[in-house]
Amino acid sequence: MRIKFCPKCKSYEIELMVGGEIGLYRCKKCGFSGSIFPEKEIKLNKRRIK
Ligand SMILES: [Zn+2]
Repeated sequence: MRIKFCPKCKSYEIELMVGGEIGLYRCKKCGFSGSIFPEKEIKLNKRRIK
């Protein structure tokens, strides 16, 4: 699973502003917005996935 995080404040609280081909995201924490949010690979505990 990959999640996006804010390049500015490293927060994972990102919300999608505009969907579609041009994804535009915004950081809920610092308000940074853009389409170039970096993604991070995270490993989830399998026990918590249903
Ligand atoms: Zn931020």
